[in-house]
Amino acid sequence: MSLLSLSNVTVAYGASQALFDVSLSLEAGQVMALMGRNGMGKTTTVSAICRMLPVTGGTITFDGQDLSCLPSHRVARLGIGLVPEGRRCFPNLTVHENLIAAARPGPWDFTRVTGLFPRLAERRDQLAATLSGGEQQMLAIGRALMTNPRLLILDEATEGLAPIVRQEIWAAISTLKRETGMAILLVDKSLTELGQVADTAVILQRGETVWCGKFNDLTDKISSRYIGV
Ligand code: ATP
Repeated sequence: MSLLSLSNVTVAYGASQALFDVSLSLEAGQVMALMGRNGMGKTTTVSAICRMLPVTGGTITFDGQDLSCLPSHRVARLGIGLVPEGRRCFPNLTVHENLIAAARPGPWDFTRVTGLFPRLAERRDQLAATLSGGEQQMLAIGRALMTNPRLLILDEATEGLAPIVRQEIWAAISTLKRETGMAILLVDKSLTELGQVADTAVILQRGETVWCGKFNDLTDKISSRYIGV
């Protein structure tokens, strides 16, 4: 049984439909890339999974449980950790306070998170608002890990960051894949880096699933047609 399964999911913003029958299936311990050009429905899919948007059709199940009736805070409690687009850390709390506020029981605590991102230990008592973009992104990932998720979702986690910081984030994602059994859903456009961690891929175009399969089966023709590289 899949850990996360979307079956014919539809979502609308008022009268404007954004997702049309999106289906995908992510197994425990696997990394999936969710791709597509701008505005194709990736963030909407993530928001639907995390119950931040109402689903108008289809079903979303996590570990066999139907998510459609749950409020978003219950989704987090089930074991889905979201690193949202734009990071959204609490600007007036310190790094330590941001992390502790998210803590739920499990192996991921302040010590383990700062083992993955030593920079966060150096910035422990600094307000999140004073961190660089890359450090805020590390904090956002750390905060999601503090919830001890079974599924980690990263929405554009490397967008707009300096190359060296991007490398640090990708290295952390590789470490998570190698050392934990956590399933990871990655929204990103960096095909080369995705290729080093992703087992499977799903491509959205105008709110529809137009391709899904093993990441290694993604051809240049498909990439250039749907992702623009
Ligand atoms: P990006 O890479 O630019 O973040 P995306 O693939 O994540 O793009 P979405 O943000 O999911 O795309 O947008 C999918 C569609 O839904 C787009 O047509 C977008 O204009 C529309 N949309 C997104 N958010 C809203 C909203 N709050 N109200 C109305 N329409 C929206």
